[in-house]
Amino acid sequence: DPRLQGISQAIRVVPHFPKPGIMFQDITTLLLDHKAFKDTVDIFVDRYRGMNISVVAGVEARGFMFGPSIALSIGAKFVPLRKPRKLPGEVISEAYDLEYGTDCLEMQIDAVKTGERALVIDDLVATGGTLSAAIGLLERMGAEVVECACVVGLREVKGQRRLDGKPLYILVEPR
Ligand code: 5GP
Repeated sequence: DPRLQGISQAIRVVPHFPKPGIMFQDITTLLLDHKAFKDTVDIFVDRYRGMNISVVAGVEARGFMFGPSIALSIGAKFVPLRKPRKLPGEVISEAYDLEYGTDCLEMQIDAVKTGERALVIDDLVATGGTLSAAIGLLERMGAEVVECACVVGLREVKGQRRLDGKPLYILVEPR
């Protein structure tokens, strides 16, 4: 797909952010580039339209930047998966491992019904820990995770194309 090169080039690489040694893939520059941003959303929409997906679940915070546009275009609702203590009402939580320690994602229990078909969206997958937590939340509520989709994925993850047995769809590799 000739659009992928423009998408890759629109992502800024910031060395040593947020700490020394990290090559941070900054997707905010992609959001500033109308063509690259629209191409990104269009590729996802073309892939998921007509697949009977009723839930697009976005991971805080950068999954929120792509998920709602995709949801509106494919006729699905948008469900935010948030960091702890951000969502009111009854929630379920899934912990996941970070490089140091653990973190947690939460989802409101009334957001998704048994049998709904869900897509999980985030900006980037590295170890897959975050996406695994997202899959866990949706499956605990009885939803079927059709696929996880990210704009950026490490080469090893991209080659794998699966995560916890779920298909994984990635547009570009880190530069
Ligand atoms: P994982 O759980 O797969 O190891 O890490 C993925 C999560 O970390 C995603 O939620 C993603 O937003 C964040 N993340 C890790 N490294 C980067 C990076 O270089 N750029 C961006 N934009 N997000 C990152």
